Amino acid sequence: MSPHRFSANGAMPADYHLHTVDSCDSDASMTSMCARAVELGLAEIAFTEHYDLNPYDQCPGFYQPARFFERLEAARAAFGPQGLTIRAGVELGEPHLYRSAHRATLDAWPYDFVLGSLHWCGPNNVFDPDYYAARSPAEAFAPYFAELAGMIRGGGFEILAHVDVIKRTGFDVYGRFDTREWEDLYRPVWQACIETGIAVEINTGGYRRRVSEPHPALAALRWYREMGGELLTLGSDAHRPDHIAYRFGDALALARAAGFERVCTFERRRVAGWVVL
Ligand SMILES: [Zn+2]
Ligand SMILES: [Zn+2]
Repeated sequence: MSPHRFSANGAMPADYHLHTVDSCDSDASMTSMCARAVELGLAEIAFTEHYDLNPYDQCPGFYQPARFFERLEAARAAFGPQGLTIRAGVELGEPHLYRSAHRATLDAWPYDFVLGSLHWCGPNNVFDPDYYAARSPAEAFAPYFAELAGMIRGGGFEILAHVDVIKRTGFDVYGRFDTREWEDLYRPVWQACIETGIAVEINTGGYRRRVSEPHPALAALRWYREMGGELLTLGSDAHRPDHIAYRFGDALALARAAGFERVCTFERRRVAGWVVL
């Protein structure tokens, strides 16, 4: 990762999607993640632990904001002097379904931004291969994108996470995914983001999976831009230090190719600044 592959002034954009031990599917310490970010030359990161309330999730109720903020303040004290800005994020699972519980937490603690994620489609977990095995691609994807648009319109978060995460598990069953075949499903999702002012994440976690492309891929990101979408962030969805800023050089090239000239940063749940690409 050479610096010239990053933004115009050499700065790397923030990694706005990171998990640590405060997510039950990660055993990475916050300290190890911060140390790696400093080593990579990142100026800003955010921790976005899972806050899931579906009783069938891997560990509903695991997330404890008091514990998270205690660790976060310790990390800020240790790594702030080294030039690392650490934002307080959180990844809400299905914010449209657990609105009042989520809101109580968000009102009580000083978050910089909230990721909204859809990991379920009705009663079905979309990481379960059986969901796809029992359906045609259209039967699997159409209800997901429709629910996603509804989730966005319900609000309560600032950034839409991994818009098409379904292509990843779906790929393992169907053996292919071509964004261009699903334009009619993506556009209502982008329209909802634009009308509500919710930002879109380029999630590079897809590069690490068999589908081998980010969420979203270039064609879909272009539609968002053409429709007037402006708010963009980057996230590696790292659950361990060596995945921080994973393939951000490629993600920035993708953003530029889609017509973006900048990505945004957040503070206290508002757009706080821009990094020019
Ligand atoms: Zn997620
Ligand atoms: Zn995540």
